[in-house]
Amino acid sequence: MNASQTSMLGETVRPSLRSAVVGLPGYVPGRRAQGADVAALASNENHHEPLPSVAAAVAEAAGRMNRYPDMGAVELRERIAAQLSVTAEEVAVGPGSVGVLQQIITGLCDAGDEVVFAWRSFEAYPILVELAGAVPVRVPLDAEEGHDLDSMAAAVTERTRVVLLCTPNNPTGVPIAHERIEAFLRGLRRDVLVVIDEAYVEYAEDGSGPDSLALYREFPNVCVLRTFSKAYGLAGLRVGYAVASPDIAEGLRRTAIPFGVTALAQQAAIASLDAEAGMRERSAGVKRERGRLQEALRALGWTVPESQGNFVWLRTGDELRTSLLEAFEAAGVMVRGYAGDGVRITVADSASTDRVIRVLNGITPPRH
Ligand SMILES: *Cc1c(COP(=O)(O)O)cnc(C)c1O
Repeated sequence: MNASQTSMLGETVRPSLRSAVVGLPGYVPGRRAQGADVAALASNENHHEPLPSVAAAVAEAAGRMNRYPDMGAVELRERIAAQLSVTAEEVAVGPGSVGVLQQIITGLCDAGDEVVFAWRSFEAYPILVELAGAVPVRVPLDAEEGHDLDSMAAAVTERTRVVLLCTPNNPTGVPIAHERIEAFLRGLRRDVLVVIDEAYVEYAEDGSGPDSLALYREFPNVCVLRTFSKAYGLAGLRVGYAVASPDIAEGLRRTAIPFGVTALAQQAAIASLDAEAGMRERSAGVKRERGRLQEALRALGWTVPESQGNFVWLRTGDELRTSLLEAFEAAGVMVRGYAGDGVRITVADSASTDRVIRVLNGITPPRH
């Protein structure tokens, strides 16, 4: 029998979602490529296949998938710590840096606490904040598509527990200069955790963004967030990490879903650290294509901020955005559109750069 119950008021009684979940914006993923002839430039993925040494480490780990992984991810944390000259106690890993960020926000925020971040930035931010019952505080980007740190400082209240800084910023590619973050930190309460999300740091030119680990050493309320998903090419395996003061990092490890980082992901990340030279070489190729694409865009009359990520940003009104997306779609090029803001194009190999330029050749850029 499956009779539904009714309350005394005659309403059907059934389980309901928390209001924070009902109101949650869904994460809109970049569309998945269908067919061999489609250029997948919507998700900032690495277009290279896994390095052979990384694929071999995964294959080897796959033979032990009947076993739970090392829950403490000790070997991986030690390797990350050695690479960054910190201790394993200061490292917490998670299923992607989005997973780690969820650990950060649920670990620090009670209902009604505030999390300040720039907007537009990474679309996972408001979702993770609202899921925790916390309040997202969006501070508009400045006219150069970068973080407006003065306005962000002004947006901090006694309820602020976390500030998220995305450098280089997804989707605009604009980094935040070291000195500006340092000044921001000097003026900030020391009980606010400042997360520096560096998902694209391997694509940034030296000196364009902060020396985040130096900032962490100077300010213990800094947390550096990084991922193996982008330049290291492990998006499908889910592994990222935070560097934070030992008490915070320990708290993050405690908020993690047990065994959330698989043995395959742990071994792939370790093998990736061993193959750093290969990663750098591949990233250099993406940086060259980024330069070529930006140059071509400017020659066509676009104003593009200098991107330090593996993507470029075109600010457009909604009308132009729609026609751009249609033109890309017709050409089999998948890019990412943001309502009200613009279009983000992932940089990959030279053939995809050529295809992007060909599409844009037929489009009149916005006038400034
Ligand atoms: C892609 C991305 C991440 C990383 O996501 P993973 O969960 O590690 O795959 C984090 N922050 C930003 C800004 C990103 O664009």
